[in-house]
Amino acid sequence: MNSVQSGFEDKRKPRYLAAFDFDHTMVNDNTDTVVASLLNPGDIPPEVISLSKTGWTKYMQAIFALLHQAEIKPARIKKTVVEIAETAGMVKCLKTLRANNFDLIIISDSNSQFIRDWNDAHDLTNDFAQVYTNPAHFDERGMLVLKPYERQTDCNLSAVNLCKGKALSEFISRRREDKNIRYEHVFYVGDGMNDICPALRLSEADFACMRIDYSMDKRIKKVAADNNLVLRAQTIRWTNGLDLLAAIISKIKI
Ligand SMILES: [Mg+2]
Ligand SMILES: [Zn+2]
Repeated sequence: MNSVQSGFEDKRKPRYLAAFDFDHTMVNDNTDTVVASLLNPGDIPPEVISLSKTGWTKYMQAIFALLHQAEIKPARIKKTVVEIAETAGMVKCLKTLRANNFDLIIISDSNSQFIRDWNDAHDLTNDFAQVYTNPAHFDERGMLVLKPYERQTDCNLSAVNLCKGKALSEFISRRREDKNIRYEHVFYVGDGMNDICPALRLSEADFACMRIDYSMDKRIKKVAADNNLVLRAQTIRWTNGLDLLAAIISKIKI
């Protein structure tokens, strides 16, 4: 009877969703550029550098091939990734939210291998309901193989390989359809230009959480205006995991 009652009470508690970007949000650097810096700059040919302007996924696949040719082993790459520092206080922020009726997801243009390795090293893997990112794995030769998450042309605010806004909307609808979960508030936490699309899809009940003085914070109003869109969500501006956590908690009744 007790378990039935507590289960019943749990269901009636408001549920929240916090969606996190990874690079420069959860971790205080860019996983792709940190791993690319294992190569000497002179070892990256101009034709590979030029790929970075047309498609980031193709560029990173070329970088991973160069790392393989340079005999930089998977263990060294993993070590490099897991040693990237968290954005101060972010692990505590995530753990506290998770313990307080928040579902957590990641939506990132990094890749599944880096995110899994870093989350495993920080005991976070099981805290996330879903990770939306480019699938990657080390193949039998030890080369990191990367695929785009999708190829989309519907959203011109997002890269062709991942519309973060669509991923966020899909997660929210699926939770409603599969589990009858409706979120009281959605918090989207990010720093970059590719975090503007999901923020602009949030409703008035939700919160766009922007890292102060990073591109999302500096450019969101202009991008919205240029695309005849409005930011409906309320905003939280943050500098680290602890002030972010305090701001989120102040918006809800824990
Ligand atoms: Mg980012
Ligand atoms: Zn988009």
